[in-house]
Amino acid sequence: MLNIIPLPAFTDNYIWLIKHSNSQDVYVVDPGDANVVIDYLNAHQLTLAGILITHHHIDHTGGILALKSFSEQHSAQAVLPVYGPASENINGVNHPINNERSMILKTLNIKVTIFTIPGHTLGHIAYLMDDNLFCGDTLFSGGCGRLFEGSPEQMHTSLTQLSQLPTETKVFCTHEYTLANLTFASEVEPDNNDLYAYKEQVSQLRLNNQPSLPSSIGMERKINPFLRCEQDTIQRAIRQHFQHPSHDNRSTFALLRQWKDNF
Ligand SMILES: [Zn+2]
Repeated sequence: MLNIIPLPAFTDNYIWLIKHSNSQDVYVVDPGDANVVIDYLNAHQLTLAGILITHHHIDHTGGILALKSFSEQHSAQAVLPVYGPASENINGVNHPINNERSMILKTLNIKVTIFTIPGHTLGHIAYLMDDNLFCGDTLFSGGCGRLFEGSPEQMHTSLTQLSQLPTETKVFCTHEYTLANLTFASEVEPDNNDLYAYKEQVSQLRLNNQPSLPSSIGMERKINPFLRCEQDTIQRAIRQHFQHPSHDNRSTFALLRQWKDNF
């Protein structure tokens, strides 16, 4: 069984640490800060077996080189494997992922499914292990990443792909943006009762300084406006806000993202 531990970094990032219950070898996802990871490894006598990167932004990649040299000094492993999208220029990635749809992480003895999900960046990928989805800055709880490189169409397609995963799939995104996202979601869908119940639950967690994550695909389908562009409530809100006759899910998505950018 996998244990997944959040290591808070910077102001609102989580570096996800993945550990098999019967092994001391671990992987980390998107280590923007090496020291956060090294401190945890030392405190719990764990060995870093590899790194998974979703996209090139520095708050996801800034710790790679320091972790490689730390690992190569402190473990028997000659070279630390670092997986990441081949199409993005990321210093330290030595297992570039091109069009592979899956791979085996031997240390965890687990199959990883890989999704290509452009939008936030053009090469952004996600990793699925069992029912745990590591989706970087693409799908957030209650929201989605900004479109720095891709088009609204690309992001909509990427989010649609993720939303079709089984409802129990756990969503491990990189940022604790949930409450702010839910404030926007409530503006768009003021009559969504699932949204209010979830917001209450998340508020309690945050009051106790607990992560709001992971979320689940089932929950996101109920409360995340960016996964609900086909809903009448969302389309009506877009028409009212923009005085615009939005006519399909994609244009609804594009306008929704524009609304959030200016919220
Ligand atoms: Zn990013």
